[in-house]
Amino acid sequence: MSVTTPAEAGAAVAADVKTLESKYLLQNYARLPVVLARGRGCYVYDTSGKRYLDLITGIGVNALGYAHPRITGVIREQAGRLLHTSNLYYHEYGGRLAEKLAQVTGLERTFFCNSGAESMEGALKMIRSHGRRIHPEKYEIVSLENSFHGRTLGAISITGQAKYRADFEPLLPGPRFVALNDIEALEQTVNERTAGIVIEWIQGEGGIHPATLEFARRARELADQHNALLVFDETQCGVGRPGVHFSYQLAQPAVLPDIMAAAKPLGCGIPLGVIVANAKAAATIGPGMHGSTFGGGPLACRVALEFLEVLEGLLPSIRQIGELFRSRLRDLAQRFAFIKEVRGEGLMIGVDLDRPGKQMVLDAIEAGLLINCTHDTVLRFLPPYIVGEREIDVAITKLKNVFQRAERATTSN
Ligand SMILES: *Cc1c(COP(=O)(O)O)cnc(C)c1O
Repeated sequence: MSVTTPAEAGAAVAADVKTLESKYLLQNYARLPVVLARGRGCYVYDTSGKRYLDLITGIGVNALGYAHPRITGVIREQAGRLLHTSNLYYHEYGGRLAEKLAQVTGLERTFFCNSGAESMEGALKMIRSHGRRIHPEKYEIVSLENSFHGRTLGAISITGQAKYRADFEPLLPGPRFVALNDIEALEQTVNERTAGIVIEWIQGEGGIHPATLEFARRARELADQHNALLVFDETQCGVGRPGVHFSYQLAQPAVLPDIMAAAKPLGCGIPLGVIVANAKAAATIGPGMHGSTFGGGPLACRVALEFLEVLEGLLPSIRQIGELFRSRLRDLAQRFAFIKEVRGEGLMIGVDLDRPGKQMVLDAIEAGLLINCTHDTVLRFLPPYIVGEREIDVAITKLKNVFQRAERATTSN
């Protein structure tokens, strides 16, 4: 008689999942060898019951970790009442969420959609509509090298990384790329044909590179001078992650955009993207000019309202724990020569390596820690906002082991 342990049963489930996916899914993702089954707080479990401290949270989406009682509570309740209305009808939560977003952004009007890319598509249409009303030749968009704005055709057109674009050319005409924080290049590139300037305040996919205050100020001035719309893509760096609601608020006084796009953490796992626009940008979209069937449904809006309420109480600890985590990582950087730099704001942190980080990500999985490597050589941390000192201690201990292993691998080569 063969007895199957829960771990063996879990491993069998995982093997089936992998077989099915390899046979039936588009082969566009390079998945890591973990099949996740459930989570609680900052921890997530695979089908075998192995526990992982999660410091990447589904690429910055699971902002309150797993099974947060307030998020789970409103999802349960709303699921039993009303999930979808379409935008043919009103429901109770859209207007309230838009009001809250106006309060926390300093902007005026919101459009709801379902993802970061969809938010950027909406922003691109606003830029085009704005430019066209002034002159048919005013359609250029100045965007940043090394930026990331999503995977739709419009979004990759303004994404400043060839690897996302090359297979799909020709793309939208009119993007012009400048290096982040290169004020001179920005001045030379923005002109009367520029309809929009798009800035990812802290480049996430590109390796955690923040915009300088001077660069953002100059972008605002140039946008005003040439009547272009200034767009901040806060899909990854916004909604609390930097320890303020949006990273443009790190500058004092804040440099306001005309349009702000956000998504990832906003629905705590329920898909929700937004563009929030000032009156000038909002006026570029009239009745019938844009829409989204799923966008802004009662479930997503209600969850986001609940999340934003919880977030108010968490902002100080995001700053404080982020600071602590960075300082502990800097201690490790003293000890391991292959760490070049530790960067970031709040709970958006990058550890820049002098080598690829892929093996470290795999070693971390083995050690029960989920992290990510972006741009080949930058370890990226997007922890849940509920992370505390205890979890940081656990993470640092595990990371130290991972780094020691990487060090041994170098010396034995
Ligand atoms: C993730 C991301 C996007 C795209 O969001 P999706 O929800 O994947 O479409 C756009 N901009 C930035 C800055 C992002 O990090």
